[in-house]
Amino acid sequence: MAQRIIYWFRNDLRLRDNEALFSAVASASEIIPVYVFDPRQFDKTKLGFRRTGAMRGQFLIQSVVDLRNRLREKGGDLLIRIGDPEKIIAKLAEEYNAGFVYTSKEIAPEETRIESSLSKNLKLVNIDMKLFWMDTLMHATALPFSIAKLPANFPAFHNLIKTALKIKEPLPEPQQITLPIEYKAGPIPILAQLGIDPNELVDADASQVSIGGEAVALQILEKYLTDYIKENKSYETADPLTDTRLSDWLSLGCISAKYIYDQVKKEQASADDTAIIDNLLSRDYFHWTLLRYGPRLFKPSGVKHNFLQRWQNDNAIYEKWTNGETEDNVVNQLMNKLKTTGFLTSAERTTCATFLVNKLGINWTWGAMYFESHLMDYEVSVNWGRWNNIAGVGEVE
Ligand SMILES: Cc1cc2nc3c(=O)[nH]c(=O)nc-3n(C[C@H](O)[C@H](O)[C@H](O)COP(=O)(O)OP(=O)(O)OC[C@H]3O[C@@H](n4cnc5c(N)ncnc54)[C@H](O)[C@@H]3O)c2cc1C
Repeated sequence: MAQRIIYWFRNDLRLRDNEALFSAVASASEIIPVYVFDPRQFDKTKLGFRRTGAMRGQFLIQSVVDLRNRLREKGGDLLIRIGDPEKIIAKLAEEYNAGFVYTSKEIAPEETRIESSLSKNLKLVNIDMKLFWMDTLMHATALPFSIAKLPANFPAFHNLIKTALKIKEPLPEPQQITLPIEYKAGPIPILAQLGIDPNELVDADASQVSIGGEAVALQILEKYLTDYIKENKSYETADPLTDTRLSDWLSLGCISAKYIYDQVKKEQASADDTAIIDNLLSRDYFHWTLLRYGPRLFKPSGVKHNFLQRWQNDNAIYEKWTNGETEDNVVNQLMNKLKTTGFLTSAERTTCATFLVNKLGINWTWGAMYFESHLMDYEVSVNWGRWNNIAGVGEVE
């Protein structure tokens, strides 16, 4: 058994069904859980807004506060640092004389670059890193095909796996977290310490903006199970079929897709045919798409490598769209809703995106960047994958 493991939390801000944390606790006598706020996440894009907007920044802070509270209930704590994780985690591992760093595996280019850089820094001080795949419903190794042979679109993917769903049981929360006797926990930053002016939140509609953290996520799931499955209430909106807003918490890993599946299945044996499970599989599909195509997903030519299609880079027209000042009132209302609540249903996102792409002919990657900044549930593969499809540069045949 290793004496100490550094557990680096990333987009897995939960205790329940967290395989990497569970394994760390089982493999070492002392665990040092760490979260690093990376200011690069909040930098401004070339289009003038933040990569991660203020509402989402606040949601992240709330999620980290909740995680620290939950770890303290288990006898542990959460070390907080601000800076480049690839440097900070390596330094902590050396200072605390850790045997390993455990963390979740990410697939987006930026996150992968940070991972590789950390791995290199750790090797220089003879420390190993163990990565765990945890973000999808089905594990990559359970898929009935290799990622290189990923079906060209979701219906084809769905057809292949729907009768062969192999989903592991979720893991329980670790019972006890033991830290070294001496450690410096560090304060959780407020928005201003991340370089975000709190005035950027003035437009937010507090009653409609989600509150971050695993505790709230579990309550939201419970409410969904009670209302829609146990009591069979009908959905308020027909589109999408469900409106749990669980995607907000899923995006930071405050709850796992596997745990949602397990809880739905316990209430409804035939759950494999329900909209929520289909939606979770659709989320998986975009993860595999990003894994399969990597950086192609973020280029105007898309996964299809369509270099013939030309897009306009016109700031004035684009800003009419972002500011909700187009000639289309529905689009304008939705763009305002996005700015004040951080949420649009799937159909509403499609309406806004289609308008930017088809009606205005603007570079679709600008639209995806705007959604990235403003969506509370921003998830790299789903957002960029959906935009690829709407722009007609997704789904390769
Ligand atoms: C242009 C565009 C951008 C999008 N960007 C994102 C994004 O950044 N993050 C994100 O999570 N979803 C994104 N979606 C998908 C979808 O709009 C949201 O997942 C959904 O609205 C979330 O609502 P819910 O949690 O109530 O979903 P539910 O209906 O309760 O579904 C359960 C879960 O399944 C997943 N899901 C639901 N609908 C879809 C879908 N159509 N495609 C893929 N996964 C789905 C979500 O994780 C969701 O929480 C995007 C859709 C479009 C058209």
